[in-house]
Amino acid sequence: MPIRPIYGNWNSVDFLDKIDKYILCTMEEPWEIIKPKLSKFPIKTIFNKYMDINHLRLTYNNSEAIIEDSIAIVGIGGGTACDTAKYLTWKSKKQGHTDIDLILIPSIISVDAFLCSSIAVRDNNKVNYIGDSYPEKILIDYELIKSAPKFLNRAGVSDTISITSALGDWLISRKQTNERFDKTVFNEAKKIAIDLMDARNKIRDVSEEGIKALIEGFFREVDLCEKWGNARPEEGSEHFLAYCIESITHDHYIHGQLIGMNILISLYLQDKMAEFSIDEIRQFFSDIKLDISPQSNKIPLEVLREALNSVEKYVKNENLMYSIYNSPNLKLDDKKIDEIIQFIKTI
Ligand SMILES: [Zn+2]
Repeated sequence: MPIRPIYGNWNSVDFLDKIDKYILCTMEEPWEIIKPKLSKFPIKTIFNKYMDINHLRLTYNNSEAIIEDSIAIVGIGGGTACDTAKYLTWKSKKQGHTDIDLILIPSIISVDAFLCSSIAVRDNNKVNYIGDSYPEKILIDYELIKSAPKFLNRAGVSDTISITSALGDWLISRKQTNERFDKTVFNEAKKIAIDLMDARNKIRDVSEEGIKALIEGFFREVDLCEKWGNARPEEGSEHFLAYCIESITHDHYIHGQLIGMNILISLYLQDKMAEFSIDEIRQFFSDIKLDISPQSNKIPLEVLREALNSVEKYVKNENLMYSIYNSPNLKLDDKKIDEIIQFIKTI
């Protein structure tokens, strides 16, 4: 079970002023906001932008001299800052410094990295999970999160609302491959998505209640997947198409916007096996003011076409979980791809 986040206003500042020695992994934007409020400063501040494994090793080596037992490693920022802190803690422990506290303070909730114990690194442009790092504390500082651009915080919803297409993939796999299935887990996942949709106005406003709804959604989703043993209830074809697009362009996208667009494509392709309707999900994204169009994602339609052309092969080569892209009922020929492109232009 992930640990329960602690909510507050400027609780990050109160907390940091109380700890003795810490290394901080952060980004410029949140650090500019937090720094003037602190009366004590970190022994080292790391602004890391890359999760490439070689780069991370170098980052660790550059800090090794000051890493000792009883210090804390703090991540303040988005996914990369939190994952860098997770990596440094994991590596320090491996090197024998067992008494190091990991503290995660997301300044933006665009991805769920701060709640997941697994550390995602890039090795030759592929995402690899190298180990686990368990935080001592997760602090949710409303004031800090509210200072980030609203659309980025809203985009965080996609990593949980991806349940709506992941469930269709699960049903397809159950029918076609006899995959392990549990109605209680399935319904709990469905309930998480519905609860988020019920909180749409608060999420749109990124109010304290909206932030809490997003975090609670993450928490329940991460907890459910941990109990189930894999990400089946939350991750499916919408993520796989995103990985395929990234493997073609090597570009970075706003994860939630890209996943949002792909959820609609998945629901469209899942057709009668889809657990949620296209209209309700499209309406939800429109209500929370999250633009998920190909233009907002800066993905040219030719690239989307190329990805749709290769995604069936891609999921097999990468050994990804069975989804609509494995289904013998789906024929992604030129005609079908034209149809999807026409559809996606209307969202
Ligand atoms: Zn994701």
